[in-house]
Amino acid sequence: MNETPHIKAPPPEHEHHRRETPPLTGRLAREFLTMRHMVDLWCRDHHGDAPSHPCPSCAEFLSYAECRLAKCPYGQEKPTCTNCPIHCYKKDPKEFAKEVMRYSGPRMMTRHPVLALLHVLDGRRKVPHPMEARRAGKG
Ligand code: SF4
Repeated sequence: MNETPHIKAPPPEHEHHRRETPPLTGRLAREFLTMRHMVDLWCRDHHGDAPSHPCPSCAEFLSYAECRLAKCPYGQEKPTCTNCPIHCYKKDPKEFAKEVMRYSGPRMMTRHPVLALLHVLDGRRKVPHPMEARRAGKG
């Protein structure tokens, strides 16, 4: 079975924070649902012999992604993470997210067309880096 690449166990404070985090709502909840479907597609095709899907390592990635969404400084106005000027993911989960997008993105169009279309529309959203926004506010 292929290992989910490069996902390390989050530090204890991350887990602590996650338990304290209220459930995602609105666009953040929908984006997490899209991510869950994409990881599920990837996991079924790469971890086919796992007893359940998502497998524990992919589930760990999803916990990390959920926490990132909950802490996203853009909130409901967030861009897609691909177009984000901050990109708050650490290197390894960022690489894994890219791999999942590459694999599952095209498949989402037939499996979950509404979520896929909404994600494409979200991709048009542009946001400034918070530093730029701060500078513009001062100007
Ligand atoms: S990558 Fe950007 S848009 Fe995605 S959760 Fe992190 S800060 Fe928010």
